[in-house]
Amino acid sequence: MKKACGINSDLVIDYFYGELKDPAKAAFVAEHITACPECAAEIKELENVREGMKSIEVDLPEDGWNMHAQGVMRKLRRKYTAADRFNEHIRPFFEMKKIGFAMLVLVVAGAGIQFYNYRNNVTKEREIAEQMELLDNLEIIERIDFYEKMINS
Ligand SMILES: [Zn+2]
Repeated sequence: MKKACGINSDLVIDYFYGELKDPAKAAFVAEHITACPECAAEIKELENVREGMKSIEVDLPEDGWNMHAQGVMRKLRRKYTAADRFNEHIRPFFEMKKIGFAMLVLVVAGAGIQFYNYRNNVTKEREIAEQMELLDNLEIIERIDFYEKMINS
């Protein structure tokens, strides 16, 4: 980000932390700071922050890192549990949805005549069973597998 004085403020920060690899650039910034009150103030601010950081006491309990690591492991375990739950409960639901969706497609795409024949001659359960057989021949099954792979990948 360019500052009002025309220098990029990243340059000033990099200079402060000694991260300017190019000596000519570093010299340029050093000279600029002596002439630019704004950038000089920024350097002073950075110095204050660095001094402030030094005075912050890091008072972790002796096994602080251990506790931290355990916390991370707990979180990971919770994540796995969530994945297991997904497999147990959501996936079957998706399978049902797959069937439901395929049937919807069948109803929409299927001929009305077929529907009336089924409706008049067979029970609801038998109708579903026979439509399920028809599903095997539908291209839509392949497409659903594709979507399922996308979801599971
Ligand atoms: Zn400046």
